[in-house]
Amino acid sequence: MNPQQILAELVKIDSVSSRSNAEIVDYLTRRCEAMGFKTQRFSYRDERDVEKINLVALAGAEFSKDLNIELALVGHTDTVPYDPNWTEATNLTERDGKLYGRGSCDTKGFISAALSAVETTGLKNLKKPLALIFTADEEIGLRGAKYLAELKPFRVRYSIVGEPTSLQPIRAGKGYSLAEVIVKGREAHSAYPALGASAVFRAARLINQLEKIAEQLKADRHRAFDPAFTTLNVGVIHGGSAKNVLAGECRFTLEWRPIPTQPSDHVLHLFNAAIEEEQRRDPDFACEVDASRADSGFETAPDSRLIKLLEKATGRESGTVAFGTEGAQMRALGSEPVVIGPGDIREAHRTGEFVPVRELAACTEILQQAVRELCV
Ligand SMILES: [Zn+2]
Repeated sequence: MNPQQILAELVKIDSVSSRSNAEIVDYLTRRCEAMGFKTQRFSYRDERDVEKINLVALAGAEFSKDLNIELALVGHTDTVPYDPNWTEATNLTERDGKLYGRGSCDTKGFISAALSAVETTGLKNLKKPLALIFTADEEIGLRGAKYLAELKPFRVRYSIVGEPTSLQPIRAGKGYSLAEVIVKGREAHSAYPALGASAVFRAARLINQLEKIAEQLKADRHRAFDPAFTTLNVGVIHGGSAKNVLAGECRFTLEWRPIPTQPSDHVLHLFNAAIEEEQRRDPDFACEVDASRADSGFETAPDSRLIKLLEKATGRESGTVAFGTEGAQMRALGSEPVVIGPGDIREAHRTGEFVPVRELAACTEILQQAVRELCV
């Protein structure tokens, strides 16, 4: 089957992250086993008790504790939600050389290309183990990939992680970290501010410090990135109950995207130091920091065999991205990861998401070359 036909079948299966991905995994299992792959599932239950499955299809070796996979093609099975009025969302539609549908570019296009590439290459001549890894819950915090990275059921040498990069090989990505900050104050009538303490004023002082930290971060540069340093953002703030009451509480989010050469909790350390400084100045100062994510970035050396191979196959120099991918988890499994896929990240997550037909076909050829050069 050509990648376009496979994509139509994948898009038909609703695999929004909130649902179980069992249906799409069943489909992928059938296809992979028909080609001669052995499959294994690595399942877990999410916080709503919904079953989520990472599927690994393996050829050229048996599943065992000391399995070393030479090349893994990695795609996430889940998608972001879609507007129910968007009729093409689960009905792949071609117009002007573009294929519209939810997940067409993020990341079912890549999965279709990978399946089609392996189907045409065949598994008979494999000399080294090849795997297809289909993950769950990428869109809601890389949970499936993190589950695998922690379990470490095998090692991987090279991994190609599918994400829409318009077919540019991406050899490094920034990490993603998130914390919620809860600043406490004491409520009082605003006519008598000395009777209380404003959580909003306290939060403002901390945010002022964060702006200084953001400036400080610019000194630690990684030339491959744009921007070349760790960035941070206070995206949401809520505080206070009425205009004439000193705010008893103020909450804000702190998000940062660390360059891969910096520990993912570096910003947190700087922020904690700023909190301690405030506490020295004001012993009554109270604040909680709930750090919920600390995803590290990844970097593969520019002279990696896989990078060289993909640069040659695409005719494009490798680059970097500032958004999160499963690259770091694939690194944790021992591999040198590269992120590449058809479609443009700016089209992903939107009504009207599409993948260009030409890029889908080109991706299939690129993956064929990678499989041939590394595993055959
Ligand atoms: Zn994606």
